[in-house]
Amino acid sequence: MKVGVLAIQGDFEAHRRRMEQLGAAVVEVRKPEQLDEIDALIIPGGESTTFLKVLGEHGFEKLKQFVLTRPTFGTCAGAIMLANRVENPSQPGLGALNVTIRRNAYGRQVDSFIGKGSAVADLECGGGPLEMVFIRAPKFEHLGSNVEVLARQGDDPVLIRQGKVMASTFHPELSDDTRVHAAFLKMVRNGNK
Ligand code: GLN
Repeated sequence: MKVGVLAIQGDFEAHRRRMEQLGAAVVEVRKPEQLDEIDALIIPGGESTTFLKVLGEHGFEKLKQFVLTRPTFGTCAGAIMLANRVENPSQPGLGALNVTIRRNAYGRQVDSFIGKGSAVADLECGGGPLEMVFIRAPKFEHLGSNVEVLARQGDDPVLIRQGKVMASTFHPELSDDTRVHAAFLKMVRNGNK
């Protein structure tokens, strides 16, 4: 079983280290064709507009086919990429998550902060408090009825799952707690959830 980390821009190395720490074989994905060699994918934080530019039309279509059928975890810019509707401003989404997401939703004054949130009980590796690093983070604004909330910060849903796809608006790869990646890996190993 191989987990790919999209490595065209952003903080992909922290995801790579975290997945290796959890015992997964990791591949850095730089070319669309590499998607054929992996079982699951992480789309890291970074700048979603840069991802779109670097991917181009061919890369976007190939990535779309992957995320619509295989386990994928997107953090921050990765969550923006996975949404079916993106606001502030509007841009194309891959449509793997039935959500509306608003970019840079915390405003300029508080563009980055470390918050405390809580995982709800069905985060498979245990619920309870979770440190959450937000960097120019988006917010999920509307969740479709088939979207499950796995963690909240205040009232805001910040970690969600729809079928084989997970997304967080914070950066779990930048905290010591491994539960979020462990939950993704467990889902990948189980084939589906
Ligand atoms: N603000 C970035 C975007 O809109 C996301 C920031 C991040 O990934 N930390 O794409």
